[in-house]
Amino acid sequence: MVDAPDNTVPPSGLEDHSEELSERSEADVQVRFYQAMAATDVAYEDLLDRLARAVADVIFDLCVVYLLEGDGTLRCAAAYHPHRETLSSLHEAFARPQNGLGDGLVHQVIQRQELYFRPRFNLSVLQAYSDQSDPPDLDIPIHSLIVVPLVTTDGRCLGALLMGRQSTSLAYDKRDLALTQWIASHAAMKLETARLYSDLQAAVAERDTFISIASHELRTPLSTLKLHAQMLQRIAHQTPEKLTLEYLLPKLASIERGVDRLDGLIDQLLNVHRIMDDGLTPDLTSCDLIAITRTAIQRLSFELERSGSTLTITAGSSLQGTWDRCRLDHIVTNLVSNAIKYGRGNPIEVGCVPEAGQQVRLYVTDGGAGISPDAQPRIFERFERATDSGPAGLGLGLWIVREYVESLGGSISVTSTPGQGSTFTVTLPRHASLD
Ligand code: ADP
Repeated sequence: MVDAPDNTVPPSGLEDHSEELSERSEADVQVRFYQAMAATDVAYEDLLDRLARAVADVIFDLCVVYLLEGDGTLRCAAAYHPHRETLSSLHEAFARPQNGLGDGLVHQVIQRQELYFRPRFNLSVLQAYSDQSDPPDLDIPIHSLIVVPLVTTDGRCLGALLMGRQSTSLAYDKRDLALTQWIASHAAMKLETARLYSDLQAAVAERDTFISIASHELRTPLSTLKLHAQMLQRIAHQTPEKLTLEYLLPKLASIERGVDRLDGLIDQLLNVHRIMDDGLTPDLTSCDLIAITRTAIQRLSFELERSGSTLTITAGSSLQGTWDRCRLDHIVTNLVSNAIKYGRGNPIEVGCVPEAGQQVRLYVTDGGAGISPDAQPRIFERFERATDSGPAGLGLGLWIVREYVESLGGSISVTSTPGQGSTFTVTLPRHASLD
């Protein structure tokens, strides 16, 4: 694999590093690299740029940082070359996902967790690893190449560093090879620490969002309750004769709705903690999905009437199975409440039907606002709302529903046309089990 390099001058515009390379010690390079990567407060993405630059600075001439994404795809996360135009050619060639230049080779390095070293290199080598018959032109003359995997101390491969030298007289040698391995293991450790740190920051930010949304949402019904209490006290002092039954009953009903809303919000917040702290072992008993659905809808009759929507149920007389009664009730209540809340007074249809293969299907269709295609996958995540406008909410209901559905072995999906309405469909095995 090791070919003898040509003895020619570096490409015009590039500094000649031959003297520096012959004089420097391994320790010098390590100290320089260490210093370049030392800052602890850099964000993860900035650290990647810093890494590409630090590697290119000490190993010469260029560096591309690849990261392996959660879905197994390769991301060209950062690239560095000291010359601006060359850097943009580098981006053009390597960093554009559609080009995929180098991807095949880098994939192989990652899969095998083995370094690739080619002291004398030409583009046809990459071609051999490319899916494309005609890879893009590479304006940058790379004459020597090292691709090294980024492996953490516990053996996980985060990605790879691709390093290239342009000068034909300064091919990488065994010393560079040893250095790049040291750099890669140091970089992997640094990236892993930065990722954990950024996950921690995200968790703290999520907790702060949670607290601010929760306190905002809890305050709204509380302020209404306080207003009612103040008003009633004022009237009791100033014009007690006004406090007739006719006057009081609607006010008391409104207070009760406010308390119910608070109760519902507190319940959602507690559910989040229950789900996160205790896991989700369901309490399985034999129960009837249709009876549970009808009872839940009955409980929502006031909200339904107020919304102006009519509701029809498509269901037989009973649909027996083994589920967690409270969770089923919660699932139905939440989906129907949302249909009422976002349905704009249009008709709602709820269905409970048996399906083939010992499954049952529960669906709730409304003719309301609908949900844009980009928001549809998001709304099942915590604190996610399709839009910030419209009725208030914590953005937690569908997340809790999905967790409950999955704890019973089922799945939930949505189909929706903005402006025309939405259908939420829950599919459950007829007999949930604890494994
Ligand atoms: P919340 O309603 O408290 O905001 P959910 O988790 O129940 O939280 O719903 C998340 C988001 O999904 C809502 O904010 C809303 O934007 C959207 N959504 C849920 N159900 C419907 C529906 N039936 N029609 C239109 N949008 C909906």
